[in-house]
Amino acid sequence: MFTKILIANRGEIACRVATTARRLGVKTVAVYSEADAGARHVAVCDEAILLGPAAAKDSYLRGDKIIAAAKATGAQAIHPGYGFLSENAEFAEACAAAGLVFIGPPGSSMRAMGSKSAAKQLMEGAGVPLVPGYHGDAQDPELLQAEANRIGYPVLLKASAGGGGKGMRVVERSEDFQAALASCKREAMSSFGDDKVLVEKYLTRPRHIEIQVFADSLGNCVYLHERDCSVQRRHQKVLEEAPAPGMPPDRRAAMGEAAVAAARAVGYVGAGTVEFIANQDGTFYFMEMNTRLQVEHPVTEMITGTDLVEWQLRVAAGQPLPKQQHELAIHGHAIEARVYAENPEKGFLPSIGTLRCMDTPSHVAFELGGIGGIGGIPAGVRIDSGVRAGDAISPFYDPMIAKLIVWGADRAQALARMAQALSEFHIVGLATNIAFLKRLVEGDAFAHADLDTGLIERNTATLFPPAGPAPLAALALAAVALVSAETPASANPADPWTGTHGWRMNGTYRRRLAFGDEYAATTQAKVYAIDMTYHPHGWTLDADGKPHPLALVARHDGHYAIRLDGQAIQGTVRRDGEALHVFTGGLHHVLAWNDPLAHAGEHETADGRLTAPMPGKVVAVIAASGQHVRKGEPLVIMEAMKMEHTIAAPSDGLVEEVLYQVGDQVADGAPLLAFKAAA
Ligand code: ADP
Ligand code: ADP
Ligand code: MG
Repeated sequence: MFTKILIANRGEIACRVATTARRLGVKTVAVYSEADAGARHVAVCDEAILLGPAAAKDSYLRGDKIIAAAKATGAQAIHPGYGFLSENAEFAEACAAAGLVFIGPPGSSMRAMGSKSAAKQLMEGAGVPLVPGYHGDAQDPELLQAEANRIGYPVLLKASAGGGGKGMRVVERSEDFQAALASCKREAMSSFGDDKVLVEKYLTRPRHIEIQVFADSLGNCVYLHERDCSVQRRHQKVLEEAPAPGMPPDRRAAMGEAAVAAARAVGYVGAGTVEFIANQDGTFYFMEMNTRLQVEHPVTEMITGTDLVEWQLRVAAGQPLPKQQHELAIHGHAIEARVYAENPEKGFLPSIGTLRCMDTPSHVAFELGGIGGIGGIPAGVRIDSGVRAGDAISPFYDPMIAKLIVWGADRAQALARMAQALSEFHIVGLATNIAFLKRLVEGDAFAHADLDTGLIERNTATLFPPAGPAPLAALALAAVALVSAETPASANPADPWTGTHGWRMNGTYRRRLAFGDEYAATTQAKVYAIDMTYHPHGWTLDADGKPHPLALVARHDGHYAIRLDGQAIQGTVRRDGEALHVFTGGLHHVLAWNDPLAHAGEHETADGRLTAPMPGKVVAVIAASGQHVRKGEPLVIMEAMKMEHTIAAPSDGLVEEVLYQVGDQVADGAPLLAFKAAA
């Protein structure tokens, strides 16, 4: 085994690898960018080396600097994590040339699988089933269109070098083909530096089922069963689970053997994932192979009682696989939810900012990786995260905050634990998908395992419910938090002299609080007006024209127990400037105190300057200065993190001036064009 490894990554995966290394007594070297000097992965490793500026191309993608850092620190091996250099054959070979072990497959395996088109040609030869399509080398637009017409619509265009859900376009009709092709090629070129595409039949209601494979350098290769990653948005995984609901043992074995055949066909060593797309009837086709550890590997660890990072280190050190196929049984059920800094209500737009507060669920058995099922006592809840409260989610990298992984004896128990854990996961400071995830896991479709990749789109009505009024319990908690913050925490809430500050010996004291939120803004009153009348042992709260007796039972570090109308209510209240974040009953309510209308409509300029919704790069300028446009017409396309974002005309009008060019980097809120709405 190695004595020291370098981890060529950041965030949760870097922390995850460091945890296993520590358990095995292996020292770790972190690398980091200027933006990550204070990052968690730097703190958890034994040593750290600065690579360069924030942009990945200047830091985490600088293979030369990473290799130099490994040599300088005396590391024997490099773990690439996922993303960045993990599937870069040249980097793997450069490691070997420098006398370092690359913890991953040989460069030749990566090259064979790196192009989706070439991988398909290879798999065809190995007898692995493929989706009907065209994956040849010719790229003439007319020929591609003829192939699409032959395959029959809808078809899917995919960047051959693609990954991370990028560079894909569904084309419904022949007349839309050329526009989609141009857009797909543009994204492929800017993201992967290669605009080669393939065309395949777009399956309707498919499931994404993938097989974890593992091979050692002695010729052994096993499969660690499947993961179902059908719940996706924009072709990106949101929830992953293992095993796949409804998987018959014979199909599991058939898929597992096909995956092992795929790995063997490319001389694979290490951890890999063979992704299949499956019809509802179970027929499955090879989609691609990811020649690295996958984001969702923890669900496999939880049901097989393995630590896949440990396996990676052992295999890279030349040891045999720790287990053989017949020793790999499935225990229980595991689900992973990717907690992202993003705004599901706004098209899943990434959210950038500081994690002012992060409360993680109780009963976390393993933090930062580790194994689920060891000794037959599986962990209930596991969190893999690369950030702490106070850290920032920056525009430079993936906006994932954490992975929340739960294990249950069966799917129903895992589901219940996931819903509970999500309701205990409180984040303040930026938008997250937590509430969305909770609706997703509690919704009928996921609960009944009615799975396919269109699940989210099909259930928009229940997943994106219209905003409703804040419940009285949330308002009461906010009011109690505000009022009790005016007294020292040590004060006895039942003591009128120190407790309910505001109580007067003679005469009652009444106070009005006004809270705003998105829903209240749409009402005539614009706010929730609350009158609190102080009594020796509590208050009366007048909210909806009715009096509600209210008392504080206990408080500790932002957690409150109150009694409202005789009912016990618990919740957590976090204050962030003038916003009060109330977490109760599994929901997160954001209440603005003071001046709820101060910021309303900030970004909705119909006239004047259209601003960037987030920091990013301009990838296309469609409108020209002086051009008259119609409402909804695309004007500028920006790219940030892992998505393209179109800035469209807010109304009919005139583009007076375009302020940026393709390739320009723009800051959050920067004006992009001067626009004048038509009269
Ligand atoms: P990436 O490299 O971005 O992961 P994949 O080829 O693995 O790309 O595809 C990502 C996702 O796109 C799949 O999980 C699935 O949801 C969808 N997808 C891919 N191919 C098809 C297809 N032929 N029909 C329908 N959906 C598909
Ligand atoms: P998986 O199939 O394991 O879900 P993805 O293809 O979604 O993997 O990407 C895995 C991870 O790789 C992402 O979460 C992200 O951290 C990283 N990644 C993918 N694409 C990029 C990219 N273009 N730039 C930076 N990181 C990326
Ligand atoms: Mg994929």
